[in-house]
Amino acid sequence: MSNKKEARTINIVGAGFTGLSLGYYLAKNGWKVSIFEKDSSPGGLAGSFKVEGENLEKFYHHWFTNDKEVIDLIRDLGKEDHILIRPTRVGMYYSNNFFRLSSPLDLLKFKPLSIINRIRLGFVVLAVRSVRDWKKLENITAKDWLINICGKQGYQVVWEPLLKGKFGRFAESVSAVWFWNKLKLRGGSRGKQGKEFLAYYKGGFASLADSMIEKVRQAGGEIYLSQEIIEVDKEGSVKRQDDVVFKADYTVLTTPLPVAARLLEKSTDSAFTAGLRKVSYVGNVCLTLELSRSLSEIYWLNVNDPGFPFVGIIEHTNFEPKESYKGRHIVYLSKYLPTDEPLYNLTEEEFFDYAIPFVQKMFPDFSRDWVLDYHVWKEPYSQPLVTMHYSRIIPPYQTPISNVYINTMAQIYPEDRGTNYAVREGRKMAERFIAETSE
Ligand SMILES: Cc1cc2nc3c(=O)[nH]c(=O)nc-3n(C[C@H](O)[C@H](O)[C@H](O)COP(=O)(O)OP(=O)(O)OC[C@H]3O[C@@H](n4cnc5c(N)ncnc54)[C@H](O)[C@@H]3O)c2cc1C
Repeated sequence: MSNKKEARTINIVGAGFTGLSLGYYLAKNGWKVSIFEKDSSPGGLAGSFKVEGENLEKFYHHWFTNDKEVIDLIRDLGKEDHILIRPTRVGMYYSNNFFRLSSPLDLLKFKPLSIINRIRLGFVVLAVRSVRDWKKLENITAKDWLINICGKQGYQVVWEPLLKGKFGRFAESVSAVWFWNKLKLRGGSRGKQGKEFLAYYKGGFASLADSMIEKVRQAGGEIYLSQEIIEVDKEGSVKRQDDVVFKADYTVLTTPLPVAARLLEKSTDSAFTAGLRKVSYVGNVCLTLELSRSLSEIYWLNVNDPGFPFVGIIEHTNFEPKESYKGRHIVYLSKYLPTDEPLYNLTEEEFFDYAIPFVQKMFPDFSRDWVLDYHVWKEPYSQPLVTMHYSRIIPPYQTPISNVYINTMAQIYPEDRGTNYAVREGRKMAERFIAETSE
């Protein structure tokens, strides 16, 4: 009889960065990992497509320099030389004008606000730093918190358009915790002079995903692409769309919560799945343009002008050089919105035709001939809606089925979504399983 211990097995539903990180850390510890992904490529919200043979994220992606978890993962993979850290230019478009907002000096020159209100705007940095107990922010909305700090004008010009751009008609219900956290994170990615530095990965986020997948496969695991899971049964086994059932010691769902609720509908009680449905999400539509020319020098342009429907125009090739895409300039136009709105449901061509006149208005030299190609990407569960007292509706990791867990970006509060936290949550869950099974 062999004394060799059988490898532990796990089914992971979803090959986004949470699922990949969980799979990677378990595979490293000898587990046999099976990852099921409904899409034809891995990465989830940070998934990619090809531009001139090179990986490009469907939705703009970068890391902050304080995104420690993802940097630790990259080091663990021995790929530290793939981390690219670069300064970026941040701007704002307001009332048909462009403003640079990369440093405190830029802020002082920001004409749309009175001098007093420019100074009050600077107080936001202090207010963010002085938060010792974020839980106290749970019972105030972002709107009220920001008005208290920088006044009505500062709120209306600078913050309200961003909140509306991110959450649409739900903007006024967003919790101060969400906004505080966003500002904390972004502020932490600045150098000594207040200039922003951001990080990217050589070969794109898809290249990092591929390295993790390679390690899972080397340990005897598998990634099943284009394989949607439709059900989890009472034993924790997962059923694929072709009705084939996969059994494992553990199952982890990294899908959005409403999808997890659907998968657990028959095997858990309705109170549990109703709890999962308490968290709402907004969707995102992202128009990715491949252009023959650049729009501006700015990487991240916040659009604060209420006449423009996009929250941001991100010129990716002002961050990762255009040479990576054979000279094509890459520009993203991002729109967050609830999926029941007509704009979310336009066809690719309709959305392009809708968006282009706004680009033309903002950049008068721009011409349609510059567009070499375009793509419209949509994700219904792009951003959990973080309302007041969100902590009360976060579902637990453990489901009523003893070997089935949920691990999603809706549970990382007070942090907001991000691949850094996806990696952290995957690692933490892997450590928990390893500890549990070695007792
Ligand atoms: C517009 C936008 C910009 C962003 N920018 C950044 C950024 O700059 N930096 C950053 O770090 N983060 C950014 N993020 C956030 C980041 O992409 C996410 O936080 C992170 O990727 C979440 O990973 P996840 O694995 O938890 O979830 P997801 O990426 O949502 O992965 C879940 C996976 O489950 C799969 N799935 C769903 N249902 C099933 C099923 N039934 N069967 C099988 N598979 C299923 C999905 O296809 C998906 O691949 C951005 C997100 C968006 C939308």
